[in-house]
Amino acid sequence: MLEVQKLDVLNPATEEVVATVPAATAQDVDAAVTRAARAQEQWAATAPADRARLLRRFAAQVDDHLEELARLEVREAGHLIGNARWEAGNVRDLLDFSAGGVERLSGRQIPVPGGLNVTLLEPLGVVGVIAPWNFPMPIAAWGTAPALAAGNAVILKPAETTPLTALRLAELALAAGLPEGLFQVLPGEGAIAGNALVEHPGVAKIVFTGSTRVGKQIMATCADRVKRLTLELGGKSPNIVFADADVEAAALATPMSYLDNSGQDCCARTRVLVQRSVYDRFLEIVAPAIESVVVGDPADEKTQMGPLISRAQLDRVRSYVTPGDGIHGTAPEGPGFWFPPTLLTDVDPDAPVAAEEVFGPVAVVIPFEDEADAVRLANATEYGLSGSIWTRDVGRALRVSQAVRAGNLSVNSHSSVRYWTPFGGYKQSGLGRELGPDALHAFTETKNVFISTEGPAQ
Ligand code: NAD
Repeated sequence: MLEVQKLDVLNPATEEVVATVPAATAQDVDAAVTRAARAQEQWAATAPADRARLLRRFAAQVDDHLEELARLEVREAGHLIGNARWEAGNVRDLLDFSAGGVERLSGRQIPVPGGLNVTLLEPLGVVGVIAPWNFPMPIAAWGTAPALAAGNAVILKPAETTPLTALRLAELALAAGLPEGLFQVLPGEGAIAGNALVEHPGVAKIVFTGSTRVGKQIMATCADRVKRLTLELGGKSPNIVFADADVEAAALATPMSYLDNSGQDCCARTRVLVQRSVYDRFLEIVAPAIESVVVGDPADEKTQMGPLISRAQLDRVRSYVTPGDGIHGTAPEGPGFWFPPTLLTDVDPDAPVAAEEVFGPVAVVIPFEDEADAVRLANATEYGLSGSIWTRDVGRALRVSQAVRAGNLSVNSHSSVRYWTPFGGYKQSGLGRELGPDALHAFTETKNVFISTEGPAQ
């Protein structure tokens, strides 16, 4: 008999094994797709008001178990407890928001001669959601909630390191009364369970969030079947500070713009571009702010930054930068995957640490001369996910917002993600959009139907 493959889930702050879960095989994926297809037929035939009601009950279950889900995320992902509560709340809110869309998902009537023309928005069928480890709960929900609301079934494959909150969400969905098989969670290896989902002919669409490297492989596999695909990939986002900005506010907001989630955030503002005339002043303010970031136990409410997710991620960060380089804070010694908050000065914009996604608590600060130079540097990247613009000049804020090729910009803040506004990347940061008012449309096919009023020819 074949030995069942297992995934050990480690607490990144202590390196202790928190849980061991079975890893799905390609056969498990196949069986899950069969169950999902059956459940989807029943779901699509359920009255919209009833589907909406069940999704709201799912949201209520998440709300009732918010603290439990948050504590689980602290243990498996090393997230700060405050952040983890926000993440569970994001799942609840997105389920509620998507439930509100079920009865509003309508086609159009388009004027034509000789008949009536209507469009139908039909569910795709079974949707595969492949999630990363950096925000396990919200990112799983960004694909799952609108897909379910639009009448699809979902098979979610969480990242190898963070399957626990996803598995708990599947239990809560059943407790809420969602049909068996409609939302299934299959932990497993990307190359095995993830790839089996992508290749499976019964899966109509893949929503993938993860690295640009794997995203490109998945896109190539989907191309063979012209499988629908949404990609949310990497980033190397600029934080542009003009001399006419409130420089103190910009500098004080800089540390957490890239240290949140220990820098394991696709929207992290890891290229800090500062106008040369205020560069020295900016550094004078930002340095003590970085040095004093509280790094440690993620379950402690006072902690500002926790560990990295894994030994592999720590090694990756160390391959770009040595702990103690540049302006830096402190990190605990001993077990756990720790790296200190770091801001590097005097870095060539083409150096790997300035050009590639490090996905750790590391940013570079680069001076620029004028607005055109700032835009040139901001756009000198293969990525285009997010960015921030700090200025008091409203005309400049608008000009630069239009000139920067990225999907999510914020002016005088580092805000990126709200479940009711669209999110996604330009260039190699992704394909398609999630969230926002049109989220359900990404999980439908539009069918055009013409009904003749002429009657059959005599
Ligand atoms: P990853 O690409 O290694 O893995 C992501 C997911 O894909 C995991 O579930 C993994 O098991 C699976 N996978 C791996 N190989 C696969 C294959 N061949 N076929 C199918 N599935 C496969 O990424 P990661 O290291 O888990 O996540 C970090 C990356 O995610 C970063 O690059 C980050 O920028 C990106 N990210 C992007 C967004 C966004 O919205 N744009 C959000 C969060 C994270």
